[in-house]
Parts: sequence; structure tokens; C-alpha cells
Amino acid sequence: MSQHIDEQLQPASVGAGEEQAYNDKDIDHYLQASLEIESNRHHIADSQRQIAELEHSNAVELFQKQLGLLQKHLLNEPQFFQQMFINDGTGAIAREFQQDELSEKFTHTFWNLLLRNDDFSSLLLRFVWHLPLKLKRKFIRAIDVHLSQRYPMFKGLSQGWPGENNIPPYIRPAAERNQDFDLVNQGYIGYMGLGYSFREVEMLVWLEVLRDKQCDDRPCEIGIPHGEDVADNSENEGGCPVKIHIPEMLHLVGEGKFRQAFDLIKESNPLPNVTGRVCPQEIQCQGVCTLNKRPIEIGQVEWYLPQSEKVLRPDDDFTVEDFENPWAKAEKPPVAIVGSGPAGMINAYLLAKQGYPVTVFEAFHQLGGVLRYGIPEFRLPNELIDDVEKKITSLGGKFVTNFIVGKTTTLEALKRAGFWKIFIGTGAGLPRFMNVPGEHMNGIMSANEFLTRVNLMRAHLEQYETPLPKIRGKQVIVIGGGNTAMDAARTARRLGGKVTIVYRRTRDEMPVRVEELYHATEEDIKLKELRAPREFIGNDKTHFVTHTKLDIMELGEPDASGRRRPMATGESEEMQVDLVIMALGNSSNPIIKDAEPELKTSKWGTIEIRANSQQTSIDNVYTGGDANRGGSTAIKAAGDGMEAAKEIAATPPFTASEIKSLVATAENYTRQGQTPQRILSRIELAEGVVELVVYSPLIAKAARAGQFVRVLAWEKGELVPMTIADWDAGQGTITLVVQGLGSSSMKINRMKVGDAFAGIAGPLGLASKLHRYQNSETVVFTAGGVGLPPVFPIMREHLRMGNFVTLISGFRNREMKFWDAPDERIGLLQAKYPDLLDVIYTSNDGSFGKKDFVTGPLQQMLENMKNGSGRVIGEVVTIGPPLMMRAVSDLSKPYAVKTVASLNSIMVDATGMCGACMVPVIIEGKMVRKHACVDGPELDAHIIDWDKFLPRFLQFKKQEEESKVRHGFA
Ligand code: FAD
Repeated sequence: MSQHIDEQLQPASVGAGEEQAYNDKDIDHYLQASLEIESNRHHIADSQRQIAELEHSNAVELFQKQLGLLQKHLLNEPQFFQQMFINDGTGAIAREFQQDELSEKFTHTFWNLLLRNDDFSSLLLRFVWHLPLKLKRKFIRAIDVHLSQRYPMFKGLSQGWPGENNIPPYIRPAAERNQDFDLVNQGYIGYMGLGYSFREVEMLVWLEVLRDKQCDDRPCEIGIPHGEDVADNSENEGGCPVKIHIPEMLHLVGEGKFRQAFDLIKESNPLPNVTGRVCPQEIQCQGVCTLNKRPIEIGQVEWYLPQSEKVLRPDDDFTVEDFENPWAKAEKPPVAIVGSGPAGMINAYLLAKQGYPVTVFEAFHQLGGVLRYGIPEFRLPNELIDDVEKKITSLGGKFVTNFIVGKTTTLEALKRAGFWKIFIGTGAGLPRFMNVPGEHMNGIMSANEFLTRVNLMRAHLEQYETPLPKIRGKQVIVIGGGNTAMDAARTARRLGGKVTIVYRRTRDEMPVRVEELYHATEEDIKLKELRAPREFIGNDKTHFVTHTKLDIMELGEPDASGRRRPMATGESEEMQVDLVIMALGNSSNPIIKDAEPELKTSKWGTIEIRANSQQTSIDNVYTGGDANRGGSTAIKAAGDGMEAAKEIAATPPFTASEIKSLVATAENYTRQGQTPQRILSRIELAEGVVELVVYSPLIAKAARAGQFVRVLAWEKGELVPMTIADWDAGQGTITLVVQGLGSSSMKINRMKVGDAFAGIAGPLGLASKLHRYQNSETVVFTAGGVGLPPVFPIMREHLRMGNFVTLISGFRNREMKFWDAPDERIGLLQAKYPDLLDVIYTSNDGSFGKKDFVTGPLQQMLENMKNGSGRVIGEVVTIGPPLMMRAVSDLSKPYAVKTVASLNSIMVDATGMCGACMVPVIIEGKMVRKHACVDGPELDAHIIDWDKFLPRFLQFKKQEEESKVRHGFA
């Protein structure tokens, strides 16, 4: 019986890897036949003659006609004939499955039929999917025994199948992957790299799904309700936050309907290729899988489906057929989405899909939020985030980058700009620090800063400008036990660091995804459990960290998180370090909260929502993701964005013409935000100093004295902060004065009229706090060199308020001075406020004004004030080289005159997300961290710990010098 079926099902070609037996008899037959051919030659000639004669006989002509008909029939109705063969074949297969075991030959044949990827193979997939478990096991046993030579991943598969054994996705070997940024977990599709065909990979996915039990209570999708003591509205344990219909998806794959399975996922989740890779499935869908020893690889299947579409259709640009652009249609009112992380992106996608004109406003120059700047490419390739952007764009969605809500504009102004509703998906990007002694030192940075420098700014690649600490061969420690710690550690490892993760509990309490920790340790990353830094110790000369003192911890009783509390044992140990990366979690960024007093926030700064809703305390303003939850997960953020989209898509209270008008206004506003920021005029003020007037209408509208912008001059450049020297809201321009000191500023200095910046974001920082002083008082500005442009707008505001102002402006020499002529900025101010403004110029060499530093005239004024012969100094504002600011601060401190320094620190994102611009200040005898970008740029100069702050400017000096050499500026 078995023999018969094998012959019936034998495919035309034998699959690769199958060995044909070498048979001597065949050779004998072959030689015999060759001899016979010779003797039969005359018979062949006879036969040919007969064929020629019969060709035109009636009988043969009729036969040929019938054959033609049959062929035509077959072409028109292939299903009919297929069905006939199928019926025969399946009957035979069913009989074969009744045997004790499937034979080797049958197994090979059956597998080869599955690989044919035709109607018959689909039918066979369905057949096996619907078999009782006992027979499925028989099939798995057969492929384990008979096919594992060709597929090593089948070896041993039948042991404990389906609950305890499966085919895992393909993971690149640790020694290979820890040298590069290519994908580590290559999923099932990764097996193609080992030479397996696309269909073979499809079969591996199908085999994984074959383990599924199709549970009636669908825990993977809806989770498991908590016990009775938990609040009614608490989320279920596990389940899918974006409500993918997981059992149906698995059923479709089980039946071989891969495309339909993908379509089903897309209905609930437009980002499966992203979430499938980073979602902590072990605590969501897979965490509650009834195959609890080895849950179904739901996440892997989730991202296999879109990824396989990419393999099949690599040029898919996501164009949507019969699509009408919602902006042109203008039938629904526009919605603004703030932030382009998973929460914002899914919200934008779902609303655009329903015909809403949407604009996503993003603070960075690139989209994706943590998915891009936090999670490295070896876990999540950036092209997948680009795909999401393309999908939204193909639905008419628009993007405005370098736009910071709370700075560039307010929520209220967005509504006035035509946006009916707003979704805030701004995440929780403010890094936490330990506040232990020595944490201010060079060589200590947040994971956000480190990862942003590498992932977003590509600092590790030569052609990019952003500097990075030297890592190769260095001792790197990463403090923390979450995903961020793992990503930072594995990134540092790939850059050649000797990496140790330091965690205050044990690995069992780590909040990291299990897979990430496992991969990290495989990649030769060490783990120091039960250790917490108590202090960092550095080199007095370089101010770089060299050692850390670690407290040795033990575990106590469980805390509120349910994990055992770490407690110091009183013992400690020292460890040598070159770079410390802090991955202690993030708090909420205060920018929106500070700009919107009406927006209710929790004591942790997260945005509060109404009961059973994603709506905030402000009508028509919604939120979700980390902005509401604090540091959470990508899939929960996506789930929130989705829920908010459902709420937002309600019937609008507008007439058709009102909607048209809103759409036109919002489109115009979006266009302004997207307009390239071009240089309109360029003046060389002095050697190496240029004044640029740049078209940037939204920043010009919002700018205030004392604020700055974050400039990305070209795509591969670095993000540099620059003070707004002037602005004209009417003309839509801002003025920047740039002194070419480093290679970036030197390159900016060479930009020409008409050139556009890759992106300018702002206005950033807090505006100057202006105070109306009495007439007996004056405000003194000390400006060193290009400190004059930032001083100028603040000084002008004081004059407008009626304050007396003394400007002490110092230049190196006559050649370096600017804006002093009667028709230039300071000259014009003097003419406008002759009774309020005193100007004192100094130069180092005496070639211009007084031969002195700015501190000389200031000291004189302070002395005059002290002895009552001069005006009282209400406030000193100092802007310029850090050493000058420190000198001014030291000088004014004994006189107890309020002194403010405007700090142009080293920054990356300049919105508080990296912590790079840390300024150590002393409050009530304690060192406190301030950040120049969010707490400044103006800070009380007398509380700045200048000894600790100044060395931070030298952190990347070496890299800066190397960059200058590379660009020929040295
Ligand atoms: P975000 O992704 O933070 O996006 C917010 C966006 O808003 C950003 O682009 C930001 O620039 C922008 N923005 C902020 N303020 C403004 C403003 N005022 N105006 C305009 N735009 C603004 N989760 C997982 O599920 N799995 C993981 O493996 C995982 N790994 C992680 C690794 C790292 C390094 C980090 C930091 C987090 C990780 N997480 C992980 C957490 C997950 O990434 C976040 O929970 C998720 O990204 C939150 O999404 P979101 O949309 O709320 O915010």
C-alpha cells in the first residue's frame, strides 16, 4: 500500500539534498541500450516513413483535434482536473496517515509536495492543520526522523512536541554579530541566509503554528483578568495591547493562508514588523500562552508575515489604490499628532486611513521616537520605521520635523492653526541619574545621550560629525537592568568596549526582555549583580572618570514593584572604568507640561487622562504611550495611540464649509513648518564670524530674548545650539551669528545665500527673566566676543522696559569687533536709547576701546557701587567664553550682585532628552543637576560649580581636533 502511494505522489524532480542510490544494474542497461540503438537504426527509419504517411489519415486528424480540445479545456478549467487528482491524492494520504509511522519515502514525497506551493500543497497544509494532535505528532516524528539531515532544526523536534519543543527563529552566532550592527534575531526569514528557499521558510513558520491549540478563551489576545482584589478597570494580565486577533491569525497560517493572515494583522496593527520585534511578548501574548513551557512564537510570526511580503515585493512603495488625499478631499477636520514614536505613528496612520488630514509634529529631525534614537539597528532596522512613514504618507499624512510643541508653538495655537483635535505622544525622554558624588565627570553619560549619538547621529561612522567617547578597548560599565541598559551595553560592545552591566538586584529581578539579556551575555557582556555605584572617582587633570566605588548589595523584602528590595551590605569594592553609561529609566519631559498650565499632570510629570478615555484635562487633546504611562513599552504605546484614534474619530461639530476652511488653514500651517530654512542674507562681521539671516517663520513667530535654536546644518552634521541673535516675525526670519571654531561651525560659516539647513529647531530654553529695575539701578551686560549677539536681544528688552543698561563688550582686537558702527545694531540702540544705554568697549590689545578684559570696567562699577559713587547694579548678565563667565561670576559674588550666565553647553537633542548639557549647581550645600537646555540657558552664575562645569567643555576636544584635520581646517 505504502509503495503504491509513494509512486502516485512522486513529484517530477527530487528535492535538493536527496541522494540517489548508485546502481550498477542501470549502467548495464544503459550500455545494452546503446548497442541496440545501432542495430535498430533501420527500424527507426521505417517508423518515420509510416508516421509521415499516417499523419494525414482521418483517424489521426480526429485524435489530434480531441487532444487540442482537451488541452483547451485544461487551460480554461484547471481546477476541475486538479480537483480530480487532488481527490485521488488526499485519499491516498489519509490512508497513509493510518499507518503506525509515516515511511521515509512518503515523508520525503509529502514534504516535497508541500514545498510546491500550489493548490494541492495548500490543501495538504489544511489537511495536516485539521488533523488530531496524535496524527500531527506522527507527522512531526516523521520529519524529525527522515528530514533532519536536510533540516537540522527538525532534529529532536518531536521530543515533547508541541508543548516543550519548537523550531526557534534564526539567531546570528554571537561571535559574528557582536562586531556589527546587523540584525541579531533574523527571525524565520533568516533561514533563507542559510540557503533555504522562501517556501521552506514558510513551512518552518507553518510548523511553529502547527503547535497552536486554538484555545477557546484566547488568552494570547485578550489576556487573563486579574483576581477580584484588583480594580475593575485594571488591564488584564498579558494579552495583546493592539488586539491582534491572534487565534485567527494562527488559524490562517495553519491553513497556509499567509497573505490573509497578514491582512488580518494589518487591520489591528499597522506596525507588525516593528512591534513583532520589540514587543515584550513574554509578558504579553506569549506570557499567557497555554503552552507555558515553550509558548508559540507569536511575535516572530507577527513580524514574519510583513517581512515575507517585503521579500516577495521589495519595491512596494505602499501606494494605496483608489485613494483620495484627505487634504484635497477636505471632508474631515485636521488632526495634529505631537511626537512620532509608536503612539503617535499608529494614531496618525489609523486616522489618515479613515480620511482625516493629519500632520505629525516631531521634535527631532528624524521620525520614530525611541524606535529610532533608542533601539539600535541590530534589534530594529531603521528601514522599518521608514516604511511606517511611507505608509502614513501614502494615506496623505504629513510630517513636520524639528518642531517642538511647547516651544515652537502651543496646543492652543495648533488649534487656531486649524487642527480640530490633538494627540500628544511625546514619550518620557528625560533620563534619570543617581546623584552620587563624581557623577558630573567626563566619561559619564546617560544611555539616551550615548544611544542618540550612535543611533540617530551615527557618531560611530567616520562621515558623520557627532563626536563619541573613545570606546575600543575601554572598560565600559552600564548601570541598570532594563532594555535601555541592554541596548547601551550591546552597542558599546559592538564599538569594541569591554562591557559590564552593573545591577543592584540579581538577573531574576531585571525588567529587561529575557531574550535581550540572554543575547547580551552571549555577546561577552559581563554582568555584575548586587552592585550599585556609590561614587565615581576621576583624574584631577583630565577630569575623566577612572574608577567607581560599588556598594555590595543583598536582597531584602519585596518592594511595591513586587521585586525584592536591594539593600547595602555595608561592604564595597572598586572597579576601573573609562566610560559609564547611566540607564536608570526616564522621567517625563517637562516641556509641554511647563508650556500648558491647563494640562493636568501627575506628581511624576506624566499627562493625566480622563476615566476610560485617552482624553486629557484639555478638551479635544488626547494622549497615550509613555507621555501618559511613564516609561512603558512600544506595544502599549501603540495600543494607546489606537484607542485615542477611535475616540478622535467622532462626528465633528462643523459644517462642510467650516471643515474646508480648517483644512486650508492647517495645510498652510503645515507647509510653513515644512518650508526649507534657507539663508536669505550673509554678512561677514569679522574674521571667521558671519551673520546669517535665515527664513524660519514658525521660530521667528515664537522667539523670545535669551532663547536659542538647535541647528543641524547638513544631514551628516552634528546638532549644535546657537543663540537667536535677532528675529523678525513679520518677515519670518531669524538671525544667527556663527563663529567658526570647530569643524561644524566652520562649515556653517561657509554656507552661502540660498543654502538650506537640514533642520533648525526652536526656540529652545527659557526666555530671559526680565525685571523692571528702579531708576537708580542698572543692568550690566558683559559680552565676550560673539557673546555680543546673544546679549543683544536681552539688552534690547531691558531698554524697551525702561531699564538702564550698561554694555561692556570685549573683543580680542579691532579686527574682531562688529555691530558698533552708528548704522549697526549697537550703534542704532545707542541712538534710540541715548539716556538709558551706556556702552564700554574693551579689547585685549587696546586697538579698540579700553585695553582691558570685560572684568576691568565691571570691577570699577562694582567698586563705585560699593562706595556709593556709581549706579546700583541690579543684575549682571554675562555671556561669552566660559572662562570669562566664570571670572565675571567670581568677581561679582563678593558684592552679592545677582549674576546670570547664559550657558552655551555641549548639547545633543537640546530638549532635555539626553542630559549632556548638565550643569552642576550647589543648592543648600548639595550638588544638584541642572540642564542648560531646559533649566537655562541662563542660570544663576553664583551657584554654578564652575570647577566641575568647565572641564565638560573639553570632553570632546580630541575628537574635535581630529574632525578639523579630516576637514582640512586644522
Ligand atoms: P517615544 O517613542 O518616546 O516617542 C516620543 C516622540 O515624541 C519622540 O520622537 C520625541 O522626539 C517626540 N517629542 C517629545 N517631545 C516633543 C514635543 N514637545 N514636540 C514634538 N515632539 C516631541 N519597549 C519595548 O516594548 N520593547 C523594547 O525592546 C524596548 N526597548 C527600549 C530600548 C530603549 C533604549 C528605550 C529608551 C526604550 C525601550 N522601550 C522598549 C520602550 C519603548 O520604546 C517606549 O515605551 C515607546 O517608544 C514609547 O512610545 P511613545 O510613542 O509613547 O514615545
